[in-house]
Amino acid sequence: MEGKITFVGAGPGAEDLITIRGKKALDEADVIIYAGSLVNEKLLDGNPCAQKWNSASLSFDEILSLMLDAYHEGKRVVRLHTGDPAMYGAVSEQYRELDRRGIPYDVVPGVSSVFAAAAALKTEFTMPGITQTAILTRASGRTPVPDAEELSKLAAHGTTLCLFLSVGDMEKVVSSLLAAGRSPETPAAVVYRAGWDNEKVVRGTISDIAQRVKEASVKRQAMIVIGEVLARNGEMSSLYNRNFSHGYRKRNAFHGTTAVFALTTAGACKAAEIAAGLDSRIILPEKLSPLVPQERVVIYPEGGLHEAFRKAWEQFDGLVMVMSSGIVVRMCAELCRHKSTDPAVVVTDEEGNHAVSLLSGHLGGANRLAQDVASITNGDAVVTTASDVRGIMAFDEMASRHALRVVNPEAIVKLSSAVLEGKRIDLVLPEKFYQRYYADSPQYSLVSLPGENPAVVLLKDGEIPGEYGIPVLYLKRRKFALGIGCRKNAALSDLEAVALQALEAEGADWDSIIAIATADLKLEEPGILQLAFRHSIPVTGYSAEELNRIEVPDPSPKAMTELGINSVSEAAAILASGGGKLAVRKIKGNGVTAALAEKVENEP
Ligand code: SAH
Repeated sequence: MEGKITFVGAGPGAEDLITIRGKKALDEADVIIYAGSLVNEKLLDGNPCAQKWNSASLSFDEILSLMLDAYHEGKRVVRLHTGDPAMYGAVSEQYRELDRRGIPYDVVPGVSSVFAAAAALKTEFTMPGITQTAILTRASGRTPVPDAEELSKLAAHGTTLCLFLSVGDMEKVVSSLLAAGRSPETPAAVVYRAGWDNEKVVRGTISDIAQRVKEASVKRQAMIVIGEVLARNGEMSSLYNRNFSHGYRKRNAFHGTTAVFALTTAGACKAAEIAAGLDSRIILPEKLSPLVPQERVVIYPEGGLHEAFRKAWEQFDGLVMVMSSGIVVRMCAELCRHKSTDPAVVVTDEEGNHAVSLLSGHLGGANRLAQDVASITNGDAVVTTASDVRGIMAFDEMASRHALRVVNPEAIVKLSSAVLEGKRIDLVLPEKFYQRYYADSPQYSLVSLPGENPAVVLLKDGEIPGEYGIPVLYLKRRKFALGIGCRKNAALSDLEAVALQALEAEGADWDSIIAIATADLKLEEPGILQLAFRHSIPVTGYSAEELNRIEVPDPSPKAMTELGINSVSEAAAILASGGGKLAVRKIKGNGVTAALAEKVENEP
């Protein structure tokens, strides 16, 4: 009969900081071999019957034979390591011996002392604007550290540093940090027995931490943490910015304001889920209001659905209706005017299984809104516009994705039917649009002037050229001012990255930017000047007085204290756009802020 071997991370010490899986393995074990000093023996109390061995008093061979014998007797063995076994756990040699013998085993992770130390310090190792990296390492001791990993080299990166097994020689640690060029003022902390009853925290800077540790009599069992993150002066993480795209919190494809309607209890719950994902308002009858977050809710009196829908139709760019499509179709019927002005309407069932793009699929963005809703509810987007079904990029959809304005929306129908009839289409478009969407189909040709075929033309500047006698769809770039704020000497790469995020949030590119706008005080910033030079865009500066006159959604308390300015990026963007509408609210990262405001256009 064969037993079972499980390596378990015990966590940093406190008996309730082990995982539930690890605890279960412990409680069911017949034999427990635990690493002496830093494993809390109280963890073993839940299993009075098991045979227990403190590995501190055993040689490697003894540990191995204990495990093997028990395994072959059909017993369950737990090898209990402190923190997580993957950090200085000396587990690899045990894994290797078991592998050689073909003996299976499991590994249950644990809370490493490095994270228990972060919890004790209430710090985050990675903070935007400071560092995005933590290095877990140790000073060399009896176990040598490879040359390339000498502390004096690793520390030069300026990241957060977490040192295991090193508190015994603080002097050496400090001199390596200074040799690496870290400022003596850099915050430093030592956490002794994190997560235990006798936990101790010592804080200081690189210059005095060694002395303070000595005064506290900490000589072992402690984690050293070094880095500016300890001062907690970072910026707000982009995670909290709704325009930020991220593996977990995906940026929505639909740009614009949205409202979600619901009529039933189940519908209200689904609406709350959708509204959280889209960052939208929830509109429902008064009796359902307690079911959803109050900050999003808009209520209407019993029987007031039609009136509420009519209002929302005018007020929002997209409406998501959690109800039967019949109700929605009847309400839309009274309000529909034209695909260039009607809002996007998406209908979904209470389960969120189907998100149907009902109205304004391309220009209004309902197809994208349906995709967004489906990805929030894990359902399917139902899209029926012909060009999507056939896999061709519709012109109005391309326009809406790339911040282009359709100058003559009445031509959309003509062009789309020409496409569907299989006619050849001429495109006077930037090469990149052609390559991306149309190059694969012989139906489209990239030309420099429209010929005899129906055509799509991106207007360069100015007027619509004369009549062509063929259907022509005119597109025009929407123009934006890019507002930028930044800390002193911000790097070009950081400025570029945050600016691009702002552009992408609206589908715009550098060709859509007419001005880079900032505060007067920032006109000499090298990074801003380089950015403007690189993209051949003029830079405009505004005085504090001018900026403070503009009302913005996201004022910056920091700019207020430091510069006496209420908002740099948003206000400057609005000013440079000629008093236009904010299209992308402030995005932050690495000491840089960016916002886009759309230039007011005279028709067409
Ligand atoms: N695998 C363990 C680390 C083992 S090496 C883990 O993941 O935490 C032992 C070193 O870890 C100690 O010298 C000390 O630097 C650190 N350490 C372990 N437990 C600790 C605790 N509770 N508080 C602070 N440091 C601890």
